[in-house]
Amino acid sequence: MDLGIRGKRALVCASSKGLGRGCAEALAEAGVDLVMNARGAEALEAAAEEIRARHRVKVVAVAGDITSDAGRAAVLAHGPFDILVTNAGGPPPGMWSDWTREDFIKALDANMLTPIALMQAVLPGMMARGWGRVVNITSVSVKAPVSVLGLSNSARAGLTGFVAGTSRQVAGKGVTINNLLPGIHATDRAVALDMAVVKARGISMEEAIAERAATIPAGRYGTPAEFGAACAFLCSQHAGFIVGQNILLDGGATNTTL
Ligand code: NAP
Repeated sequence: MDLGIRGKRALVCASSKGLGRGCAEALAEAGVDLVMNARGAEALEAAAEEIRARHRVKVVAVAGDITSDAGRAAVLAHGPFDILVTNAGGPPPGMWSDWTREDFIKALDANMLTPIALMQAVLPGMMARGWGRVVNITSVSVKAPVSVLGLSNSARAGLTGFVAGTSRQVAGKGVTINNLLPGIHATDRAVALDMAVVKARGISMEEAIAERAATIPAGRYGTPAEFGAACAFLCSQHAGFIVGQNILLDGGATNTTL
């Protein structure tokens, strides 16, 4: 399917690896020019070079912390953007009774206030031009809480509320905002979560992965490529009537009817 977005420009945040990288790859495959971002310059430049070579699109790599004012200003200086994919590292696991106000502020900054600031920066231009696509990478924890990820549960719920209202305010100008909710995908983040289980339970990594995969009806972890393809579709010309949705990509792991 031709996604109809060849020649558009996208900002894909936190995209040197994992799900952000999957989104960058899929958009590049559709002919979209990219601004990619991550903190580590070396991995970011390597990812940008691979994508340039594979898909023959323009890729600008901007190293920096997207959760900081300076990091956001650095990427936004490369606008305007037709497409925005927001993403950042997830907060660490822990215990509800241990988190301090500072822990919450950090999580809110990374997973709620940063995507909101980026949307506030790019939405006016998209609306003025009459076309835009925003996809926020959130988490399965929006639909079903992951108890040890209380910081994530809280911050992402706030972002979800913002998107629910704002998406309806901008849709009339040809701009859609939707959230993609990853369940377990095979990325460094999943390795870190599985490693915590290995340490806590004294089992092998293979056992930890097999146990987790057995809780997913699809019987396996998702891949960044699958995730990226869903993102690219939401950014396509065909997705203009999908507004303010929270789409689970979890292999059926969340046992809900709706
Ligand atoms: P990942 O494999 O660890 O990759 C994270 C990417 O983001 C890397 O490119 C990293 O590069 C970059 N990054 C992290 N923090 C950043 C920051 N502050 N500023 C700029 N770039 C940053 O993670 P992932 O699995 O793709 O996860 C992406 C998001 O989805 C996270 O919020 C995660 O919590 C959420 N999620 C993932 C899963 C899963 O199973 N993978 C499930 C549910 C939710 P640098 O380190 O060099 O900055």
